[in-house]
Amino acid sequence: MSEHTYDLIVIGSGPGGYTAAIRAAQLGMKTACIEKEPALGGTCLRVGCIPSKALLESSERFHEAQHGFDEHGIKATVELDLSKMLERKDGIVKGLTDGIGYLFRKNKITRYTGTGRIDGEGKVSVVADDETTELTAKHILVATGSSVATLPGVELDWDRIGGSTQALDYGEVPDHLVIIGAGVIGLELGSVWSRLGARVTVLEYLDRVLAGVDGDLAKEAKTIFEKQGMDIRTGVRVTGARVDGDQCVVEYEGGEPITCDRVLLAVGRRPNTEGLGLENVGIETDKRGRIPVGEHFETDVEGIYAIGDVIAGPMLAHKAEEEGVACVEYLATGYGHVNYDAIPNVVYTHPEIASVGRTEEELKADGVEFRKGRFPFKANGRARALNSTDGFVKILAHAETDRVLGVHIIGPRAGDLIAEAAVAIEFGASAEDIARSCHAHPTLAEVVKEAALAVDGRPRNM
Ligand code: FAD
Ligand code: NAD
Repeated sequence: MSEHTYDLIVIGSGPGGYTAAIRAAQLGMKTACIEKEPALGGTCLRVGCIPSKALLESSERFHEAQHGFDEHGIKATVELDLSKMLERKDGIVKGLTDGIGYLFRKNKITRYTGTGRIDGEGKVSVVADDETTELTAKHILVATGSSVATLPGVELDWDRIGGSTQALDYGEVPDHLVIIGAGVIGLELGSVWSRLGARVTVLEYLDRVLAGVDGDLAKEAKTIFEKQGMDIRTGVRVTGARVDGDQCVVEYEGGEPITCDRVLLAVGRRPNTEGLGLENVGIETDKRGRIPVGEHFETDVEGIYAIGDVIAGPMLAHKAEEEGVACVEYLATGYGHVNYDAIPNVVYTHPEIASVGRTEEELKADGVEFRKGRFPFKANGRARALNSTDGFVKILAHAETDRVLGVHIIGPRAGDLIAEAAVAIEFGASAEDIARSCHAHPTLAEVVKEAALAVDGRPRNM
């Protein structure tokens, strides 16, 4: 094999791409990964999951120190050092993105820095500032992820009016931040800046927040976030936003424009396919710009595969990872599978919101008969000790077989609690299986057990 010939070339080093590259190398494939940014790790590590969670953690501690200590009998004077908070976040990102470089070296994956372009079947160029390198490969895996979706009329200057990347780095706490979209990004980053002292207004087109999340959880979440101080207005269609001097003006149908000092556009993300050379091999995207793939992630062109945010399905880091692994395992062994029914979804607000499996609305729409068990955190000793009693666990189980179909949690550490539910669904467990499993006391996980008991009408502590 020549120096620039590989078994697999991965374009994009996000959670989908870097995980696929590592697994391919473990399976003995000569692997290269092309990334256009100087740092590895993709949206998730550089400007997504990780920096947002770092700021969510810091801002939650700040808020707790300001408003939650008194209850515990602790007196403290609290002051915000935003630069230090942002530096801490940047340090975490650097540590993790550097870590991917280490993993590439350890697994003997060749890294190319530049834009990857498909020139033909088995042919890829890496276009960097001063040179173009031509590579060949048996298999090409597109893992180029997604970017902020724009909205007609919203004039992004990528500073005062920007997307999530800008909202992870505001140099000062905005006086008034308007967020367009009450989806995951809007509510997570809205929580960050609201806790740090900004007035936050969220404008959402639909009549509810968190589209796709079980309706009971979304309703509870809106009530809780409004109590926390966010002004969430649903049924509002934003038609424009522009910078006006040192302010911004946001326009929407049926109301007076809002003046604010920052705007965060969070109306979804669009797949990255521009400049990728798909036209060179005749791959056409669907109407949402995604690359269509078959069962084993192969595109319409033999030997070219795609995974992660650039294809259909939830835009989640762990979904991209699972797909990357399944894709290369199939190439190397003939086996590789993703169970899309068991992919958890977590919103890292306070309280957290986490789901796996089907929602109540989906089951009703499909005419599936189910039983429901629900248990509140306020009846749980550990939640009381944590002073975090908002929310509940809801378990949906098949009416006849008792098989768990969906688990929906809003409450403290819901993102960790959902792991048990994902395993239950993966293993085809019944609600009775969860109810009969011994859960340590006092833990938040007991609320999951109680909700499982409640499916059969026999919760013990309520
Ligand atoms: P990406 O992570 O987007 O990586 C694609 C990579 O490809 C990028 O590095 C890009 O630079 C590179 N690239 C693109 N085109 C080319 C090219 N032609 N040549 C070379 N390189 C190229 N998901 C979660 O599961 N949990 C969370 O908590 C979470 N939080 C988020 C918070 C924010 C603010 C955002 C924006 C997203 C968040 N997500 C979260 C979503 C998550 O980041 C994505 O689902 C995930 O990163 C998708 O992985 P990917 O590998 O498909 O693509
Ligand atoms: P989203 O799809 O979650 O929410 C976008 C919201 O904007 C929707 O509720 C939509 O109705 C609304 N909207 C659309 N047009 C509008 C208009 N004209 N006026 C007002 N509202 C409008 O998108 P997002 O929050 O940008 O997140 C993008 C993706 O990133 C999501 O798919 C999510 O999976 C991923 N993400 C995940 C996490 C996590 O897992 N914790 C965190 C952040 C982002």
